[in-house]
Amino acid sequence: MTGTVAAPLLQMALRVEHDIFLVRQRGREVATAVGLEHQDQVRIATALSEVARDLLRTVGGADVAFYAAGTDESRPALRIDLAPVGPLPGTGYQPQSGAVARLVDSLDVTTDEGVTVVRMSRRIPANAEALTPQRLAELRTRLGSTAPGTALDELALQNEQLVAALDEVRSQRDELAVLNEELQETNRGVLALYGQLSEELEETNRGVVALYAELDEKSAQLKAASESKSRFLANVSHELRAPVTAIIGLARLLADSASDPLTSEQARQVGLIRSSATDLLVLVNDLLDLAKAESGRIEPDWADVDLRVVFGQLRGTLRALATRPGVELVVEDPPSPATIRSDEALLARVLRNLLHNGLKFTERGEVRMRAEPVDDRWRLVVSDTGPGIAPELHERIFEEFYQVPGSATGTGTGLGLPYARRLVNLLGGTLEVASEPGRGSTFTVTLPAGGA
Ligand code: ADP
Repeated sequence: MTGTVAAPLLQMALRVEHDIFLVRQRGREVATAVGLEHQDQVRIATALSEVARDLLRTVGGADVAFYAAGTDESRPALRIDLAPVGPLPGTGYQPQSGAVARLVDSLDVTTDEGVTVVRMSRRIPANAEALTPQRLAELRTRLGSTAPGTALDELALQNEQLVAALDEVRSQRDELAVLNEELQETNRGVLALYGQLSEELEETNRGVVALYAELDEKSAQLKAASESKSRFLANVSHELRAPVTAIIGLARLLADSASDPLTSEQARQVGLIRSSATDLLVLVNDLLDLAKAESGRIEPDWADVDLRVVFGQLRGTLRALATRPGVELVVEDPPSPATIRSDEALLARVLRNLLHNGLKFTERGEVRMRAEPVDDRWRLVVSDTGPGIAPELHERIFEEFYQVPGSATGTGTGLGLPYARRLVNLLGGTLEVASEPGRGSTFTVTLPAGGA
């Protein structure tokens, strides 16, 4: 489609003030007829009357022609040409500037076939009835036949439109006010919530801080208590060791054949003193060991330890202990290579202790020790076919002085397992028990192959 169209839909002259109303009114009629929406009708009518007023004032009038035309774009538009009756005031005349130009799609001064016109246009919406030549002819006839109303009519209509526009503005303003109010309300709510939350957070924080302070204090107290316990044990056992050793020495001296002979009763009593003192010395030594381990005064002497050597030595030294005829001591050879970074003496002590317990409590069957590598750790397992330990006592047997009721064999202090666990911890590992009454016990030492 091109911008040129055959016949105008309507033509009229603008010469006197009164014509402005007519131009406006007819503009609206044409806009309605070609299918512009209500808002656009008002817009085009307003722009038209503004330009008309201006032309009347500056050049004394114009010839107005309305066209329904295809524009350069494919959508049809309502186009209005106002041909001034006199020359426009120079090049300064620019109707397109200002608010009026914004009411329409285009508003400019253009020269069409040697005639200068002020031209405005507004596109017709796609959903309007199609402007076929037949429809255009129909519109032309209809617009030509309708008589223009009076200026007063147009003024009344204009007023009406103004009131409607004002109403619209007011309702929008009211809506905005409601929205604003809601927003403020929400803001207040959010602020209140935020305040409440931060208060709660502060409260919680204060609680946590207080709790931590208490925890710190408690753990300091605990540490102090544990230290003083270790110190006490160390001091007492150290102080006891000398006199107990002296008693053993004296008892041995009394019983010595080089001394004055004793009556058999005296010899029995001296023997009792000696064995009691020996038991006491074991206890004192155990206590001293434990106190040392607990106070952190034992420093492992790290070295590459060959488990096969350790196992071999234990097999040799403990065979003498396995005196029960129905009990076999089995020390398996660890799979080679069996090197671990550890303290050989401490490790041997732990294993000896476990084997010792196994042999002490097992009456029939076997006590077995074996080793297996698991990833980057070694698992050393001492198992027996002894009486077993009830599950609820599995942790208690690691407490100092605890002995399972009825299990006491007359020897032992109840300090062996807590000491063993301490040493294993020092070596960077763990000591656990798995056992059930009647099914034997399994003590497992797990140590990092590379040391602590
Ligand atoms: P002690 O052996 O000197 O009594 P321990 O600390 O070594 O002290 O052991 C604590 C207690 O755990 C023992 O008195 C015994 O009741 C129980 N116990 C330890 N090892 C075994 C085991 N292999 N089989 C059954 N009971 C055991």
